[in-house]
Amino acid sequence: MPRRQPAPGGTTSGNQDADARRAALAVIQREVAKCTRCPELVANRTQTVFGVGNVAPRLAFFGEAPGADEDRTGEPFVGAAGKLLNDIIQAMGFQREDVYILNVLKCRPPSNRAPETDEVENCRHFHERQLDILKPEFVCCLGLHAAKALLRSTLSVGKLRSKVHEYGSSKVVVTYHPAYLLRNPPAKKDVWEDMKFLLGEMGLKPPAPKK
Ligand code: URA
Repeated sequence: MPRRQPAPGGTTSGNQDADARRAALAVIQREVAKCTRCPELVANRTQTVFGVGNVAPRLAFFGEAPGADEDRTGEPFVGAAGKLLNDIIQAMGFQREDVYILNVLKCRPPSNRAPETDEVENCRHFHERQLDILKPEFVCCLGLHAAKALLRSTLSVGKLRSKVHEYGSSKVVVTYHPAYLLRNPPAKKDVWEDMKFLLGEMGLKPPAPKK
């Protein structure tokens, strides 16, 4: 399948821009690795989980927090929810490498509990600075905690879906978290509707189904 977005760096200026972004992100990543603002998270983490992917993305996926697999590997969305996210990305006609993937929290909450408000606020400057460097044209919030953190909204995912919101220069759509889909497979059809809506906003069509 043709890639929807070439990796950055096809030109000299593209290379320089991508290198500058990578360098700026690396500075934040080192800060994240040393962060001790949330004592409970620091005491329980194996490592921090920063973010991964195309540093000049049209689309970024914004999740909640690392789980056990992410805490072990240092990469977001590599466990069961990550496999489902990969399937969603591919069904849209992208490769995982085409998009950027990051979370609200950079440390795993113990027992995968939901992020606490003070943890989100402690971590906020990290994802804000990441997104400021990445400047994705589109951000897809995965689940309530991502939408709450990015949009500072108290509305449910159900109320936030099927609309285009704004965050800085990025257009934002909201859908259910892949972990929710693992518990509630019938919601997959809602997420696919949301992804078709997002593709439409991006000026793209979903790829033809494989015969
Ligand atoms: N869930 C998330 O929100 N993020 C991850 O990285 C993994 C699971």
